Amino acid sequence: MPAVNGQQYIERIDQLKANIWYEGKKITGKISEHPAFKGVIKSQAKLYDLQHHPDLIDLMTWKSDTTGNRIGTSYLPPRNHEDLEKRRLAIQEWAKLSCGMLGRSPDYMNTALMTFGTSAKILEDQSMECAQNMKKYYEYVRENDLALTHTFIQPQVNRASFYIEESPEIIAAQIVDENDDGIVIHGARLLATQGGTTDEIIVFPSGAQLPQISGTAPYAYAFAIPNNTPGLKFMTRESFDYGKSTFDHPLGSRFEEMDTIVVFDRVTVPWDRVFIHGSVPVNNRLYNDSGFFSHTTHQIICKNVIKTEFLLGLMQKMIDEINVGEYQHIHEKISEVIVGIEAMKGFIYSSEKQAKMNQWGVFSPDPNPLLAATQYYPKIYPRFVEIIQLIGASGLVSIPTEADFKSELKPELDLYLQSSQSKGEDKVRLFRLAWDACMSAFGSRQVLYERFFFGDPVRLATNLYNKYNRKHFVERVNDFLQKDPD
Ligand SMILES: Cc1cc2nc3c(=O)[nH]c(=O)nc-3n(C[C@H](O)[C@H](O)[C@H](O)COP(=O)(O)OP(=O)(O)OC[C@H]3O[C@@H](n4cnc5c(N)ncnc54)[C@H](O)[C@@H]3O)c2cc1C
Repeated sequence: MPAVNGQQYIERIDQLKANIWYEGKKITGKISEHPAFKGVIKSQAKLYDLQHHPDLIDLMTWKSDTTGNRIGTSYLPPRNHEDLEKRRLAIQEWAKLSCGMLGRSPDYMNTALMTFGTSAKILEDQSMECAQNMKKYYEYVRENDLALTHTFIQPQVNRASFYIEESPEIIAAQIVDENDDGIVIHGARLLATQGGTTDEIIVFPSGAQLPQISGTAPYAYAFAIPNNTPGLKFMTRESFDYGKSTFDHPLGSRFEEMDTIVVFDRVTVPWDRVFIHGSVPVNNRLYNDSGFFSHTTHQIICKNVIKTEFLLGLMQKMIDEINVGEYQHIHEKISEVIVGIEAMKGFIYSSEKQAKMNQWGVFSPDPNPLLAATQYYPKIYPRFVEIIQLIGASGLVSIPTEADFKSELKPELDLYLQSSQSKGEDKVRLFRLAWDACMSAFGSRQVLYERFFFGDPVRLATNLYNKYNRKHFVERVNDFLQKDPD
């Protein structure tokens, strides 16, 4: 099946009837019509439609080497510089449609799966079947253009370094049984963003290395199952799409990706969907050896350039509206954002320029600049949100709703809330967008998302510390110290 369009995506998600709970009730009707999900599903459908746009089809898709069908570019294992560039441009086309606000647009997991699928040989150390399962699953997903959610972490019960769960009842999901049908999983996992708006869930080991002691193997697992698998349940948080219009909540009404807690109630994972079951060494090698870091960080940073460009455009428009472009501190703040964008672009180009074929025959960007970028962006994004607040000031709370502009108040609102450029309604339309980016529940979650979605920045810093080769710099210092003073 070639790349799907929006309608096909919606119909498939509706037919799933996955077990999703919202505010104490199980969702029974069509998920695409539920107030908490319909906005993001509609936006995501537009991404799928873009794959078929006559001007973009060559960029957004490629001809599958197994079926000849045109399938999504985010599944493409790059073989050279052109492929990497194509991936970047396709990721950025999709990001433009969501202003970069959909962190879990399908290209994120498609990219992750491409790395696991192409490096499936790693899993031969678990078993030949597991390696085959991974390879076949990658092909199945890409040829059917499935949308995936994922959970990589365990519930936040106790993060002390020597904590081992000793609760009488299982909390963190673990393998509790193996039988002829598959492995049986029981317990909970966090945190599946888009849990309710995707076809299947991939459950992979947490990035943390499991110690090689007995008793930890039940946590060494990886598998994928449809979201409507018996025993699987998604529990949601409150939605930040409050059912308001696109005037009132321009971002939240379109791009609110729900975060879900995933519960496995003795879920049987069929053997052909099991990728790891019990092998701690394979579990511990998976992320570092698969190319996961190179390619997922490439997707993330490409997307975040678009997100930051959108914020810059927003800031400039606010500056023009209230005519504060003459002030030097404004120039300084905007230059901070420009530096951010140029630095991020630099990280991408550097990673592409230094790309190499990895051991699985996949042309992979240099992970160092991209890992540096994933350290950098969580620090600058909250500052950019702060800059929007510092530019907007009271304009960010002088924001009556669409209903006010439809009432008899309109003439007064247009008069008193006008800007140097626009009548009140248009100024408020812009400042509501700024509010949704920097103050609303939606905007605050975006900040938390950028801080944590790829893992704890503190532990990621340790990863960079451990991986970045600085031996030759130390040697240079040693050489210098040995030189005779002259
Ligand atoms: C909006 C959002 C969306 C997300 N979406 C997804 C998703 O789709 N799929 C998914 O799998 N995950 C998702 N995540 C989860 C994300 O991967 C985690 O938030 C991240 O890995 C950090 O883990 P944690 O939240 O459990 O924080 P914790 O590990 O509980 O950390 C809490 C605090 O303790 C500190 N800490 C804990 N352990 C250590 C340690 N060993 N050393 C030093 N400091 C430590 C941390 O630095 C932090 O300050 C999402 C998170 C957010 C916020």
